[in-house]
Amino acid sequence: MSLVEIDLYKELKKHFGFGQFKGLQEEVIKSIISNKNTFVVMPTGGGKSLCYQLPALMTEGTAIIVSPLIALMKNQVDALRGISSQDGIAHVLNSSLTKAEIRQVKEDITNKVTKLLYVAPESLTKEENVEFLRTVKISFMAVDEAHCISEWGHDFRPEYRNLKSIIGKIGDNIPIIGLTATATPKVQEDILKNLGMSDAKTFKASFNRPNLYYEVRPKTKNVDADIIRFVKQNDGKSGIIYCLSRKRVEELAQVLQVNGVNAVPYHAGLDPKKRAKHQDMFLMEDCEVVVATIAFGMGIDKPDVRFVIHHDIPKSIESYYQETGRAGRDGGEGHCLAFYSYKDIEKLEKFMSGKPVAEQEIGHALLQEVVAYAETSISRRKFILHYFGEEFPDDGEGAEMDDNVRFPKKKVEAQDQVVKL
Ligand code: ADP
Ligand code: MG
Repeated sequence: MSLVEIDLYKELKKHFGFGQFKGLQEEVIKSIISNKNTFVVMPTGGGKSLCYQLPALMTEGTAIIVSPLIALMKNQVDALRGISSQDGIAHVLNSSLTKAEIRQVKEDITNKVTKLLYVAPESLTKEENVEFLRTVKISFMAVDEAHCISEWGHDFRPEYRNLKSIIGKIGDNIPIIGLTATATPKVQEDILKNLGMSDAKTFKASFNRPNLYYEVRPKTKNVDADIIRFVKQNDGKSGIIYCLSRKRVEELAQVLQVNGVNAVPYHAGLDPKKRAKHQDMFLMEDCEVVVATIAFGMGIDKPDVRFVIHHDIPKSIESYYQETGRAGRDGGEGHCLAFYSYKDIEKLEKFMSGKPVAEQEIGHALLQEVVAYAETSISRRKFILHYFGEEFPDDGEGAEMDDNVRFPKKKVEAQDQVVKL
């Protein structure tokens, strides 16, 4: 197939029913179908899956999709089966399959029915799987959530480090597509190095979220009262409040309830029924506020979250960006308010003290960036985007959506822990 002959829009419509590509999708897809190693950096929700799904459906052979979470793989396989008349179009290969199921998967691949095979890196390492995959036509390998390869990422998985050598065993010249929402230059470097694709065509979308307002306030002993005031001023709007510990989540949710705010707690210590119920309440607007640990949010797609408050500062800029990114998905206002005290930084440092030295060093470096963000007097948007290797111009989109820009000179210092009102 030559590029000129293919009408990508027709394919997009046929398989997914969409009339337009999102962002850089079209360019990415062209790179993939011309068999080039390709590296895609796009924020969450940017539409990365389609970048490999459409080429997989269009090209000869089976694409191997590496993904770290069974739940993510299952979701995608279900969605693909929904748009196809053949269930075998997509499969997951993992250790929970029965012998008969594995036979079916292999049969579908051999019979050229399967266009996408999702595997966890552990399963891909298995000798018998490598042996089998050597015998069939592989169109390309996509490594989703590729930041898992890097110790500098927020979700390091050592098995991701072996992917390059495994793909080499499966076949020669199999193109590799790496995809991630992690924009830090260090992580990107690691990905390209580990996947052996310094030659990759790189596509990087902007991480600017112009509709988000960034603000940092000093954290005092009155932080609960500050939060209650903020929530009351934003009556009727949906918001998430992140706390570090489960205990704090419970306490703050209660304080809010006592003060007439319809809030629910969410953390991994709640029994699963209650957790699911609280998540649904939030999604269905049966409550205004969810007070949560970082266990809340993965895959939550509520478009009209109007504020994200950090009662406790997160452990990296990366996490902060991901967590605040849940605000304003619909393009409407999203207020990102972090309460900061240097004491919390010390607490986080202390948590790390039991960990291996290398991990501590990385953790410390990431935390220092958080301190710099909290204490900066320049545009916070500029700071975040710079951290992601992106230059943000003074008059860029959303430039005024920032406390430092709107109220210059107001500076939060580690030394000024207690601010008199
Ligand atoms: P990411 O992996 O980058 O976080 P996803 O692949 O999960 O993003 O896609 C996010 C959403 O965007 C999905 O609901 C998907 O259906 C939608 N989407 C992707 N591409 C398009 C498109 N071209 N037109 C409309 N919606 C799209
Ligand atoms: Mg994704």
